Amino acid sequence: MPRPRKPRCVRDEPAFGFFKPQGVPLRELELVSLSVEELEALRLADIDGLYQEDAAAQMEVSRPTFHRILKEAHRKVAIALVEGKALGIEGGDYFLAGDTRIFECVECAYSWEEPFGTGVRACEAVCPKCGGAVARYGCARGRAARQGLGSQDCRGPRMDRG
Ligand SMILES: [Zn+2]
Repeated sequence: MPRPRKPRCVRDEPAFGFFKPQGVPLRELELVSLSVEELEALRLADIDGLYQEDAAAQMEVSRPTFHRILKEAHRKVAIALVEGKALGIEGGDYFLAGDTRIFECVECAYSWEEPFGTGVRACEAVCPKCGGAVARYGCARGRAARQGLGSQDCRGPRMDRG
């Protein structure tokens, strides 16, 4: 059974959702689909120039996972540019970053806000009241608030949280 994918934290919705080669009718074009988190990886690595470690923390994924997302994003953009395909940006598995995230303790149900961008992953956060593990979190603003996140999701080997 594959593990449930953990949603990635994304700063903004894409400003533009669709690109195509000029002068070619849409019906003749093949579409390459870039997910919103793949676009976010491009932004963090290639525009902001973050180290993969820092970019991974921003998106709340492991570094190898970030590397995979970025590599796939590069591949898709390259295919669209080189082979003249339309590029659509949509979908994926993500939530929008708010100014703060809401963490909730599994042990005592205490919940608190953690500022975004501290690099603290929900799975690594510890309850300030009882020291328990964090069960789930969401963004204070953002549409996918309070994503369910099994606390054991982050405790396994770091390698494949894909
Ligand atoms: Zn607690």
